[in-house]
Amino acid sequence: MNNIINGTEIAKNIKDQLKLEIEKINDKKPCLAVIIVGNDEASHIYVKNKNKACDYVGIKSDTYFLNSNISEIELIQLIEKLNNNEEVNGILVQLPLPSHINEKNILLKINPLKDVDGFHPYNIGMLSTNSAKLKSCTPSGCMELLKRYNVDIKGKNALVIGRSNIVGKPISMMLLNEDATVTTAHSKTKNLEYLTKNADIIIVAVGIANFLKPHMIKDGVVLIDVGMNRAKDGNLCGDIDFECSQKASLITPVPGGVGPMTITMLMKNCLTAYKIQNNINIEED
Ligand code: NAP
Repeated sequence: MNNIINGTEIAKNIKDQLKLEIEKINDKKPCLAVIIVGNDEASHIYVKNKNKACDYVGIKSDTYFLNSNISEIELIQLIEKLNNNEEVNGILVQLPLPSHINEKNILLKINPLKDVDGFHPYNIGMLSTNSAKLKSCTPSGCMELLKRYNVDIKGKNALVIGRSNIVGKPISMMLLNEDATVTTAHSKTKNLEYLTKNADIIIVAVGIANFLKPHMIKDGVVLIDVGMNRAKDGNLCGDIDFECSQKASLITPVPGGVGPMTITMLMKNCLTAYKIQNNINIEED
């Protein structure tokens, strides 16, 4: 049985659906504004990939390259300008920002209806009451993979390892919204192995290469690996030791699992933001 989840294929299918939907828009196309501050190499690669995905699905993308010594006030002024620009449907500030800029202050300034990263406290609050339209991209990508592989979530023991604001916490809320019994583990969790052995679904987002080992899991578990790490040999690897695939009923590989879903869900959020701003009905997931 092939138990490897093909995130690349699912991401492509979703992008193709979005492309078709965007082609049908006769009016102006959705537009995403991306702000990047400084010269962080990884950030520039991410932004390039985002622009490529925008081109593919037909979303207009405007990238603002800002000097690393820009002040917080100047950055806020740009965000306010984009908030007030009706041509712009989504605003994304590429993180991390230089240390003299307070990320929380910046994210708070983005109009929540244009917050395509789903990081604004308004959208996090909406998620916690199960009414969010713009949800953070990596967690939504994980949920989409579970859905497309018909994983039954209701009543299942779901364990999320990691509690970051961008991955662990939102995915815990999403699983709870889907009626899983959710446990969120973190670096202070005691007896993690007890939790991993009793979990039906495990999402790992810790940022430690090959953290989850085969002896920690039960047969038939569904494993979602969010991690993106460099192994000692320089290759990309996840937070889950891929030997776990011998016991899991389903597992995401790294690369080719969760990774391709993140930008795809960003594209989906851009279209959703466009629909919200143009009073177009949004089909619920
Ligand atoms: P993060 O902010 O560093 O959070 C890591 C989490 O792991 C923290 O909650 C930490 O606990 C927990 N943790 C650390 N050591 C642990 C241990 N020994 N046992 C249990 N929990 C432990 O990381 P992140 O931003 O969530 O990212 C996690 C990974 O996902 C990284 O590899 C990142 O590169 C990757 N990522 C991938 C995508 C994608 O598109 N595929 C997107 C985002 C992130 P404390 O809270 O107690 O410190």
